[in-house]
Amino acid sequence: MDLKKYVTVVENWPKEGISFKDITTIMDNGPAYKYATDQIVDYAKKMGAELIVGPEARGFITGCPVAYALEIGFAPVRKPGKLPREVISQEYDLEYGTNTLTMHSDAVKPGQKVLIVDDLLATGGTVEASIKLIEQLGGEVVGCAFLIELTELKGREKIAGYDIFSLMEY
Ligand code: 5GP
Repeated sequence: MDLKKYVTVVENWPKEGISFKDITTIMDNGPAYKYATDQIVDYAKKMGAELIVGPEARGFITGCPVAYALEIGFAPVRKPGKLPREVISQEYDLEYGTNTLTMHSDAVKPGQKVLIVDDLLATGGTVEASIKLIEQLGGEVVGCAFLIELTELKGREKIAGYDIFSLMEY
């Protein structure tokens, strides 16, 4: 299936100069959503994933169906103040300023093989912070899967040494 047909490119959103890749037009198409999920499920099986971790919010809609299909767990990475129990935090740099992401302190078991799933790899800041959170909890990141990779932003270089799988490149 040519999945790019289902991505809607929105120019100058959310800011002038940004070419936003809208993946909701994959999700609202049953066969396209299933196809995209199945590709990541195959990758997750190959890497021996025991837990899926997804950053809010599009990492949920991309990662949860993968966890469901494999009958393994899903753990969310969220912005501060969203998770109700004890959390660990990781800060990362944005173009202007910083962002913080959190995970529940007991979300990953020591030695657990974890696959990170998100909709899109841009600069790699989100996935790098997620890797640090998982490793702080003793998890082993066996791979990172994305629907889309924006190759010019070189996110892949930020997480060199980790296995990366993407379904589409722009
Ligand atoms: P990074 O941290 O790699 O720079 O940015 C990736 C994060 O930003 C992902 O969680 C993703 O959801 C979001 N993101 C950045 N640009 C886009 C885009 O063009 N389309 C979509 N769907 N998400 C984006």
